[in-house]
Amino acid sequence: MALKITDECINCDVCEPVCPNTAIFQGAMIYEIHLDKCTECVGHFSEPQCVAVCPVDCIITDTDHPETQADLQAKYQRLTQK
Ligand code: SF4
Ligand code: SF4
Repeated sequence: MALKITDECINCDVCEPVCPNTAIFQGAMIYEIHLDKCTECVGHFSEPQCVAVCPVDCIITDTDHPETQADLQAKYQRLTQK
């Protein structure tokens, strides 16, 4: 499933540049993740890059939007075809 950023985000800016799908953006208050662009880094890396760099561990799975590994792979294919 896509990931989401909780309100514990301290706006440190380090996650946005590491996202291979440009899914992370500065929202009104904190950084946010585009649901339709986050593949959990499937297709690019073996683990979510944003989670690896976040200093306060505020990036979590969005359980409101469940996706299988196949769904994430299909999203990756869609994103890279554009
Ligand atoms: Fe981007 Fe990967 Fe984080 Fe999703 S898990 S927001 S694709 S860096
Ligand atoms: Fe917020 Fe974590 Fe991204 Fe920093 S790395 S901007 S704390 S979500």
